[in-house]
Amino acid sequence: MRKLCVIGDPVEHSLSPLIQNAMIGAAGLDCVYDARRVAGTDTVRWLEQAKQEGYAGFNATMPHKEHLVPLMDELSPDAALFRSVNTVCMKHGKLYGYNTDGDGVLQALREADMDPAGKNVLVLGAGGAAKAVVYKLVEAGATHVAVANRTVERAGALCAQVGAKGMTACDFSRETLCRRAAQSRLVVNCTSLGMTGTAGQFEDLSFLEELKPGAGVFDLIYSPTQTELLKAAHALGHKTANGLGMLIWQAVFALEHFSDTKLDGAAMAAVARKVLEGRE
Ligand code: NAP
Repeated sequence: MRKLCVIGDPVEHSLSPLIQNAMIGAAGLDCVYDARRVAGTDTVRWLEQAKQEGYAGFNATMPHKEHLVPLMDELSPDAALFRSVNTVCMKHGKLYGYNTDGDGVLQALREADMDPAGKNVLVLGAGGAAKAVVYKLVEAGATHVAVANRTVERAGALCAQVGAKGMTACDFSRETLCRRAAQSRLVVNCTSLGMTGTAGQFEDLSFLEELKPGAGVFDLIYSPTQTELLKAAHALGHKTANGLGMLIWQAVFALEHFSDTKLDGAAMAAVARKVLEGRE
């Protein structure tokens, strides 16, 4: 039986064991998945311990995603691009690092009828999650990506790192968000604004009024399932989706790496969604 887990600190809140064990059961895989609390200073020690304990792989959440990058024997193209690893496979004594967040968000956007191809997109935030999102929006053919962030220098650094044409870094003022929203057909919230127990709420959501009819608003947050941003966007008639789809799809792609199998993604995603809904 393959031993798998998620590492993080904290990790108790992680939904990965619930989702992964449900998908493992449905796919009939001979794996078991648990959660291990590993402090941010212990990433290297954990790798040794994981080998000794016979783990076949693990997912990583805060604060390990960046720490793992230089410790891998091989990195997938996305992990190398984002400088972040969320999935590690341990095979024949070697460490293979992947990042499934980007493919996860892209699949979730498409599933929500928010394919970014040919669209001007307004991204809110420029942290770790925004990096994967912005790279994938560009790769998927977004026409223009505006990255608005409270710390505008961070938005500038992200745009410079991605280095694609058709990107603009901007501030987070009401005026800027209104102007950018008027030009956009998709908004992706990658800030932690609205997340349960954290940074607070958007001070002003009037920029949503500037979006054209049929626009999409995607929030990476899934707790709460309906953020103030999504409620306001829905009330204005825009398409909305929360971050559950991204959470689910990044897990599906991670399980494909762990099991070295092409899974029925839609069936796996349905199993994960059902088990998540069952817990609410
Ligand atoms: P992060 O690296 O800490 O970035 C946080 C972002 O939020 C930064 O852009 C930060 O701006 C902004 N922010 C924080 N407080 C703010 C405030 N009061 N006003 C304006 N902006 C503020 O976090 P992350 O890892 O990118 O995660 C961001 C969100 O995505 C979290 O809610 C996380 O749960 C969610 N997420 C979801 C999934 C999923 O699977 N659905 C996956 C990953 C992340 P500054 O740069 O100015 O600080």
